[in-house]
Amino acid sequence: MPAERLSEHVWALTGPTNIGVLMGPGDRAALVDTGLDESAARKAWRLLEENGRRLVAVINTHAHADHIGGNRFIVARSQATVYASAFEATAIRHPVWEPLYLAGGAMPGPAVSGKFFMAEPTPSVTEAPPEGDLDLGNGFVVRVVPLPGHAYAQVGLAYDGVFFTADAFFPPAVLEKHGLPFYVDLAAAERSLARIRDQAGEWAVYLPGHGPRLDRVGLGGHVEANLEAFDRLRGEVLSALGGPRSVDELVDALSRALGLSYANPGQYYLARAAVTALLTDLERRSLVSPVVGGTLVRWAAS
Ligand SMILES: [Zn+2]
Repeated sequence: MPAERLSEHVWALTGPTNIGVLMGPGDRAALVDTGLDESAARKAWRLLEENGRRLVAVINTHAHADHIGGNRFIVARSQATVYASAFEATAIRHPVWEPLYLAGGAMPGPAVSGKFFMAEPTPSVTEAPPEGDLDLGNGFVVRVVPLPGHAYAQVGLAYDGVFFTADAFFPPAVLEKHGLPFYVDLAAAERSLARIRDQAGEWAVYLPGHGPRLDRVGLGGHVEANLEAFDRLRGEVLSALGGPRSVDELVDALSRALGLSYANPGQYYLARAAVTALLTDLERRSLVSPVVGGTLVRWAAS
C-alpha cells in the first residue's frame, strides 16, 4: 500500500481498501477507515510515526469489514476516538451484524464469518453528527457528508480539499469485474451520487474507498458509469424475470446473464442482497411486485 499525498494536509494509503490520513493542527492526525486487517492498519500507523503524528481520531465511513478491520490494531496503540454515523456505529461495536444480515437474519457458518465479513469488535464508538462539522478537538474539524446507499448510513468525509467518498461509487473496472455491485438501497445510492456530482466544484481531489484518486473530470465519469450500471442492472433484472421467480431463481438467472459465478457462500450472499435491493427499487417504481403463493414468494413484472 503506497502512501500518496493528496493535498497539503492529506495523505492516503492506497490499496485494496484506501485509508485516508488527515494531518491536523500541531502534531495531531486522524484516519479515514482502517482497512481490512492489521497489516493495512500497520502501514497507516507507520506513516503517522514517520511524520511524528499523534492519532486522535478514526472516522469509519461505514461498518463493512474491509473498512473497519484495522480498528483493533489502531485502538490498541493509541488514544484515538473512533467515530461513525449512529447506525453504522452499532455494527462496528457488534460486527456480527454483517454475517447475520447477509445470511438473512440467521448466523451463517465459517465461510461467511471470516475477516472479510466480520471484523473484530470496536467496543467504543462515538456517534458523529449525521451531517456537517465533526470537531475532533482544538480546531481540528472535518466535514461529514451523508452518502447512504451502499451501506445503510454510510458517510463521506471532506478535509483540506479532499473528499473521501467511501463506497458511494466504484471504479468502472470494478463494476465490470464484479457485475453486481453491493448496494442496500439504490434510490439512496442515486441520491448520494447526485449529491456528489452537484458538489463536485467544492473539492479538488476525490478518493473512493476502492480505486485511484480522481480529479473533478474523472469523478464525473465515475458517477455517470455507476448511474448507467444501475439502469443497465434494472433492465437485466426485468429481462431475467421471464416469469415469476424467487429471489434465488433470479440470482441464478441474472448471474448467468451477466457471466457471474460464486466461489463461496459469502460472495453469493452479497449478490443476493444486491438483487434484493434491485427488486425493491423496481417495486418502488411499480415495475415488479411480489407474488405470495403456496410455499414461496416470487417476483413478477407488474
Ligand atoms: Zn463497503
